[in-house]
Amino acid sequence: MATGRTMWFGAGPARWPEKVLERAARELGPRAESGLSILELSHRGAEYAAVQENTVALLSRLLSVPESHEVLLLPGGATMQFAMLPANLRPAGSSADYVVTGNWSKKAALLARADGKVRVAATGEEDGFREIPPTQSWDLDEGAAYLHVTTNNTICGTQLHEIPEGLTAPLVADASSDVLTRELPLDRIAVLYGGAQKCIGPAGLGFVVIRKDLMERAPETLPSFWRYRDHSKASSRLNTPPTALIWLAGLMLEWIDREGGLREMMRRADERARLVYEALDAHPAVFEPVAAPEARSRTNVAFRLRDRDRERDLLELAARDGMAGLSGHRSVGGLRASMYTGMTVEAAGRFAGLLHDFAERSGRVGA
Ligand code: PMP
Repeated sequence: MATGRTMWFGAGPARWPEKVLERAARELGPRAESGLSILELSHRGAEYAAVQENTVALLSRLLSVPESHEVLLLPGGATMQFAMLPANLRPAGSSADYVVTGNWSKKAALLARADGKVRVAATGEEDGFREIPPTQSWDLDEGAAYLHVTTNNTICGTQLHEIPEGLTAPLVADASSDVLTRELPLDRIAVLYGGAQKCIGPAGLGFVVIRKDLMERAPETLPSFWRYRDHSKASSRLNTPPTALIWLAGLMLEWIDREGGLREMMRRADERARLVYEALDAHPAVFEPVAAPEARSRTNVAFRLRDRDRERDLLELAARDGMAGLSGHRSVGGLRASMYTGMTVEAAGRFAGLLHDFAERSGRVGA
């Protein structure tokens, strides 16, 4: 499988480890138990139930989910949660606080604003989301139904390195682009959620790790399908769930577990980010990282070339070396290397090597 394999740095859907792709291909066909493919299995049967329980158990273990919380697997990715969160957690007449650190948190706030009150507790928009407003500067409403943060901002490549402590409002965190690459303490996070397509594998699946008591807040008037409580009672099988995606997530999580779990994923994330940022920092006359140094993400490294006209050349050179998915988001431009759980340290090293070579050829090393 490795021959002709592209080194994929896309922001999501993300790169999958070869071993997991090979296993998925091998095991997609008829299963020993029933002679049916996972694509055919009934979501109501015991065989499928075991598949889903395995995925949920692995995610719970890898994230150290405490007794107080429950893991729900829901279709619709992170964006559906932008709408479900306020509908469930913000009682009529109350307001929710949002810390806006990037385009995705802005979208989350916008969706929440559609049918209720939102306060922006802090925003980094004035400086183009290059920095994370320091937690001491957040203007918090003590009576807020919840406080929403984005733990990693996929587009500009910034990260909320410290999860705040001692908050009055329950903390809700979109961790789509850094879950399983860092410590996310669930004693401080009431709801941890995201799309699965970056760090957990398949696109179209969302994970919601929610403090159980909060599920009781949802109004009875909310349609059943929108209520976390109802999904919980039905063990995330209120309707036909994305069975194959849940199976695929399980394969990816088993791989993560076997490779050494969260600790090893964190080590690799640190190493990959170190390699790429070191290459950028070694050539300040050529490269210009987007994020302020103290806000740098470990999973999305966004940067410009000082000579904007040469960005295309660098992308072409990368493509010639088998690296793709490196164009920056259209709102930022430049380049972005997205490196989630499935990305090898070796590929990050290859990209860092390309950056060094490119800068050296530019003849302005370390200038
Ligand atoms: N939040 C963040 C931080 C993201 O990066 C993304 C997708 N790039 C989303 C939310 C939206 O995710 P989805 O496409 O799964 O709705």
